[in-house]
Amino acid sequence: MGLIDQAVDLVEMKVNDVQENVKDILDQADYELSGAVYDSILTTKVGKVIGWAQKNALWPATFGLACCAIEMMAMANSRWDAARFGAEVFRASPRQADLMIVSGRVSQKMAPVLKTIYDQMPEPKWVISMGACASCGGVFNNYAIVQGVDRVVPVDVYVPGCPPGPEALLYGIIKLQEKIMNEAGTKQAAKRVA
Ligand code: SF4
Repeated sequence: MGLIDQAVDLVEMKVNDVQENVKDILDQADYELSGAVYDSILTTKVGKVIGWAQKNALWPATFGLACCAIEMMAMANSRWDAARFGAEVFRASPRQADLMIVSGRVSQKMAPVLKTIYDQMPEPKWVISMGACASCGGVFNNYAIVQGVDRVVPVDVYVPGCPPGPEALLYGIIKLQEKIMNEAGTKQAAKRVA
């Protein structure tokens, strides 16, 4: 066998080695990719997925009663940016809203109006009582002011303060989101739409 034949054999051996190595690498990558896809599969309940969607898309009714409402409006601006929590889409119609933020004192005259707006909101719906006046009448301990909006509608979260700042209201929304997620897929969540 001449030198040229030996060289050809050597090159063929090297090419075969390279082909084997590439095949091994591709097989390994294929295996790891299948493993990654396998590891990515999640299992959950439909109720939990619905709760997750609801908590991240709260639509508050455009509804303010007194000074607290200014802080509520501020929450939606770029500084506090309620959009980070999916709660910036204030709706002008209660039929498109699922969150009522009672921001301010509720007078006896306003209570039936508030109840009507609440009744017009579709289920499931939630209520945040914002500030001392809405939660307990605040400094207005008199016959003209309802001493707590929970006498008119069911309240899910109370935000204390006079007035509570936008960050306090955001904290209340985060607490409401936790409540929605905890209830998701349970009998309480089913009762809300019953
Ligand atoms: S809690 Fe204070 S800021 Fe809010 S409505 Fe009452 S008086 Fe105004």
